[in-house]
Amino acid sequence: MKEVLLIKNGELALKGLNRGTFEDILVKNMRRRLGAAVGKFVFTKSQSTIIAEAAEEDADFDLAEDVLKKVFGIAGFSRAALAEKDIEDIKRVALSYLRDELESAGTFKVNAKRSDKRFPMTSPEICREVGAHLLRNIPSLKVDVHNPDVTVTVEVRDKNVFIHGNQIKGAGGMPVGSAGRAALLVSGGIDSPVAGYMMSKRGLQLTAIHFAAPPYTSKRAEMKVRDLVSIVAKYSGRVNFAIVNFTEIQEAIKEKCPEELFTVIMRRMMMRISLRLAERDDCGALITGESLGQVASQTMGALACTDAVSTMPVFRPLIGMDKEEIITISRKIGAFETSILPYEDCCTVFTPKHPRTRPTIALIEEAEAAADFAPMIERAIETVRYEHID
Ligand code: ATP
Ligand code: MG
Repeated sequence: MKEVLLIKNGELALKGLNRGTFEDILVKNMRRRLGAAVGKFVFTKSQSTIIAEAAEEDADFDLAEDVLKKVFGIAGFSRAALAEKDIEDIKRVALSYLRDELESAGTFKVNAKRSDKRFPMTSPEICREVGAHLLRNIPSLKVDVHNPDVTVTVEVRDKNVFIHGNQIKGAGGMPVGSAGRAALLVSGGIDSPVAGYMMSKRGLQLTAIHFAAPPYTSKRAEMKVRDLVSIVAKYSGRVNFAIVNFTEIQEAIKEKCPEELFTVIMRRMMMRISLRLAERDDCGALITGESLGQVASQTMGALACTDAVSTMPVFRPLIGMDKEEIITISRKIGAFETSILPYEDCCTVFTPKHPRTRPTIALIEEAEAAADFAPMIERAIETVRYEHID
């Protein structure tokens, strides 16, 4: 029996004239992601559905289902079986393809859509015939037209007949790339991977930037961040990952600047470097995992000091969220267990005991003038290491 995937795009339907472009990006993303994990698929658009057919006979559709669940821009999709344009074949395929699903369900109904008006039966007739056949063969099954456990859908289209059970929920959002690219400042914590996931859901491709401070931070800590980036990449697709050596700058901050301003100065240095790397990669914004008031460097005043050095918008999708809400998403995307592994981050190595929660720009600029940071920033940019993470 031949199986296909029927994909319904989500918000795409709202996008009017851009719809074609959005669909093209979605197809490109699905092709790449399915191609890497499962094998080659061929896509055709038909009405509001995109049909994906596997090029090889033995393609693993369970795996394809797992992959598609993580592709943004899909509201829902179905795995469907193809049948001949013949009611006897439709009945046969419906029973054998959906038997397991129907046997574990209590109730069902049949829904027929007949866009090929040459088909000799009406939709209600198809429903009756197929429904009766399923009831005869699966004794435990009952009909419930209002609230069925499984809706069996028979779509009689111009070229094919598709038969499927309940639709599988998609990841929603917009196809990655449809909104451009942005640079995620990623640490080994809980928040920044969630922030990357959320912005990628809004259609952004990601460049990830991580600041490491060896030997204060270890190789293991860096590997943990790489693992987190690859979890985000399961949703966002390929990420350009840049690792910046931040040691010299951090040591200079520690030596030359007042301790209560360490964190905010460090964040401004991160911003300056990130902006340059972001420009290199054609990014239109920076993304951080900050949440208002979570720590001293995330007060409104401290955020204003960080933003003051940025020439790009800084997206902070977690700004209004509680830690609990952030953790729920972190668990959902499979990042939490990795995030809580106890490795040091460059921020925690130099944490001041009493950070100033209301720094002023004047005070910070004066403190930053105590060392010549510009050449250090250049060196950090020159020595950045790049990786591609899929
Ligand atoms: P996270 O859980 O993302 O580490 P956090 O609550 O620990 O966040 P901070 O350590 O203050 O908060 O960092 C705030 C944000 O700054 C992070 O969400 C991240 O975007 C960025 N950031 C912090 N440390 C680094 C780092 N070492 N490299 C890159 N970005 C960082
Ligand atoms: Mg952190």
